[in-house]
Amino acid sequence: MTDDVLGDLEPTEVRLRFAPSPTGLLHVGNIRTALFAWAFARHFGGKLVLRIEDTDTARNTPEGLQYTLDSLRWLGIDWDEGPEKGGDFGPYQQSARMDIYTDVVAKLLAAGKAYHCYCSQEELDQRREAARTAGQHSGYDGHCRTLTPEQVQAYVDEGRRPVVRLRMPDRPIVFDDLVRGEITFLPENLGDYVLVRANGYPLYPLVNPVDDALMQITHVLRGEDLLPSTPRQIALYEALAEIGVGTGRTPRFGHLPFVMGEGNKKLSKRDPNSGLGEYMARGFLPEGLLNYLALLGWSIAEDRDVFTMPEMIEAFDIRKVNSNAARFDPKKCEAINAAHMRMLPADDFARRMVPFLAQAGVLPAEPSDAQLGVLNAAVPLVQERMNTLSESVDMLGFLFVDDAHFGVDPDAAAKVLTGDADAVLDAAAKALADVDWTTEAIEAALRASLIEGLGLKPKNAFGPVRVAISGRRISPPLFESLELLGRDKSLHRLEQARRTTTS
Ligand code: GLU
Repeated sequence: MTDDVLGDLEPTEVRLRFAPSPTGLLHVGNIRTALFAWAFARHFGGKLVLRIEDTDTARNTPEGLQYTLDSLRWLGIDWDEGPEKGGDFGPYQQSARMDIYTDVVAKLLAAGKAYHCYCSQEELDQRREAARTAGQHSGYDGHCRTLTPEQVQAYVDEGRRPVVRLRMPDRPIVFDDLVRGEITFLPENLGDYVLVRANGYPLYPLVNPVDDALMQITHVLRGEDLLPSTPRQIALYEALAEIGVGTGRTPRFGHLPFVMGEGNKKLSKRDPNSGLGEYMARGFLPEGLLNYLALLGWSIAEDRDVFTMPEMIEAFDIRKVNSNAARFDPKKCEAINAAHMRMLPADDFARRMVPFLAQAGVLPAEPSDAQLGVLNAAVPLVQERMNTLSESVDMLGFLFVDDAHFGVDPDAAAKVLTGDADAVLDAAAKALADVDWTTEAIEAALRASLIEGLGLKPKNAFGPVRVAISGRRISPPLFESLELLGRDKSLHRLEQARRTTTS
């Protein structure tokens, strides 16, 4: 990355933050934000701060914090300061920082950077409407900017409780967005905005920049939806600098492009493709999901979609993030995940399947050595065929379930275990009864008996055997599967299927 991203900072002085509101598991949009902030910080050897923006108690859920931390841990996005880590700029949960905000607001008021506004909602609405009718800007009109002490007293006597507004500068606010280049906001579009509600409640446009200033954040990456708030936040930084809060340095901003879902609409938190829980349950690999999310706006090189997180960190350049909206493609997401599945060492692949097989009741949570042996041996049969880990249940369940729980999928039975299937199963059982139990010998025996002996096409020969032993029409390669299942179980299942065959 070029100096124009760092300015006069040393690379290791870079400090980013991820600032989620703890409303549940993370979703695709904020995971991408976390990923880019993390890759940015790690690229330079700087710091990632995790700050929990939990002042809006109505939106928080009790498990929200834990879900947020669990999400990040699952993803492998680690933070240097924040909950469970501590750091010099804590507390890192905004709900524990209320005194800090009160203090900063008092300083802003004392310095005239902010002021009390006593306008009622009705008055604001009326004046806004009048301005609109007159074709003027309808933002806050600055009514309470210059109240005399007598006017203030009159409002107080009326029992009005004021909000606190920031006094916005009367000049354009221009900044160089790290993704979108230079952006200018004109003062007529930037009315004095509310920092603190009349009930004393500090709002996001106050607490977020105050914490960025106090936590010495140097770069802010966040979604494009927050772009309209940026000029206001920059004005607040400047005010904070003047009253000596924080480093005096306004962070650089980078606004990440929208993520579009079905029908070219913004991917919402409620979209089924959005929630992290969905990806965890389907058995995505964290590295597969992150790789795909990185492609929503960034690419490591032309014609290259698959990369590891260390490779991303090495190459990440915020200046190369595309400002155009990115389209979320669930199929591509799965394909990228599949590519990462293929890259796993076999024992790692086996280990990662265990929780899915355990959850489905196919394996115990702590499988025996024998079970692990079978699972490891099965990896080469399925690693190229699975897109997500949860597919292991359908793919490999038949190797582990005991006879009492084994069943043939009725649809497969209806399609394949019919007509001459019993003759095929009989012949297969006979051929396998005392053959050497190796893949090669099993294959040779079945070919001799079913293809040469009965004159069947491979599909008609092996289809019934496959359904009989795996219960499904799609399974790992047949001869290897038989070998792994073992002779006794294989013969028993052929026999069982023989009995269910319908004519
Ligand atoms: N808590 C805010 C959010 O989750 C953070 C916004 C920001 O990064 O500035 O949207």
